[in-house]
Amino acid sequence: NPIAGRVRLADLPLNADLRGRSPYGAPQLDVPVRLNTNENPYPPPPELVADVARAVEEAARELHRYPDRDAVALREDLARYLSGATGVPLTAANVWAANGSNEVLQQILQAFGGPGRTALGFEPSYSMHSIIAAGTRTEWVPAPRRADFSLDVERAAAVIAEHRPDVVFVTSPNNPTGQSVPVADVRRLVDAAPGLVVVDEAYAEFSSRPSAVTLLDELGHKLVVSRTMSKAFAFAGGRLGYLAAAPAVVDALQLVRLPYHLSVLTQAAARAALRHADQTLASVHRLSDERDRVAETLSATGFSVVPSDANFVLFGQFADADAVWRAYLDRGVLIRNVGVAGHLRVTVGTPEENEAFLAASKEIAAEHP
Ligand code: PMP
Repeated sequence: NPIAGRVRLADLPLNADLRGRSPYGAPQLDVPVRLNTNENPYPPPPELVADVARAVEEAARELHRYPDRDAVALREDLARYLSGATGVPLTAANVWAANGSNEVLQQILQAFGGPGRTALGFEPSYSMHSIIAAGTRTEWVPAPRRADFSLDVERAAAVIAEHRPDVVFVTSPNNPTGQSVPVADVRRLVDAAPGLVVVDEAYAEFSSRPSAVTLLDELGHKLVVSRTMSKAFAFAGGRLGYLAAAPAVVDALQLVRLPYHLSVLTQAAARAALRHADQTLASVHRLSDERDRVAETLSATGFSVVPSDANFVLFGQFADADAVWRAYLDRGVLIRNVGVAGHLRVTVGTPEENEAFLAASKEIAAEHP
């Protein structure tokens, strides 16, 4: 029994908003095939690992000092990458970085949400948006998608005009459903919104659609685009998310960020990983091809598959999604029950992992017709 182990959560003077809640997170189970958290299945190449180790060793010599509070060199590198990817000439002044895009999103709601303010999102989508809203005491307004999970942009604009939220979240490609939102639709939503529109592009590299970053010059007073190195960049363990916005938005986030939030080790490792971006991102095409193969095979097996632009696929229909999730787990394949009725989400893995998943799917289709 640990010291003070008799103290229970219910004994603590916890804020009433948090009572009865459970922490966010998928089960981290040690099974052979893990396809549940949308990571890149390919480990970093040895040259990248060596470069990160060298950079971290060098940074370690300065560990007695606080890091660059503004992470300028890293933001310059991110701006260079994102300019190359989108064709928009961004500078470090347009880019802000934090420990994962979750922290970026939290900082956005700390600065632009909060008590008395509202944030709106189109569900089902990334559930951390509403959880971060709750954590920043921002009132959450859930708005609907079509039955096929696509975004009805005219209806969305009408809902925004009705509720006048301070912050709107648009996830493109959307997690967990996979569809992208066309840039013209993002413009329509920004026009309808009285406040900020945050386009969460965590999976943008897997999509062939243009990025909302292309709208920034025109709509920078209301548009923010968030990105992450956790998915395509194969850097989920490094914890590095970022955004592109008007420099004034970056100034606003500086008001809420904790000083020295990005450690000297994180900054050094992320910069080293970015130097290998071309090599890392080569896996993106392979994964997109595999996604299409997984989706087609699932369809041919009799499942209904939601079209995806990302590195995961939502599929169904199941009378009891939880029982089916367990049936995969029994076969050594961990996928995700994201709480969308009748559906499960599978992350695209290596061809071998996908084969294991598809083989399990054929058995399960026979068992759960
Ligand atoms: N946005 C979306 C849509 C995501 O799916 C995720 C990760 N699941 C994130 C943001 C956050 O990722 P990270 O904090 O690792 O950047």
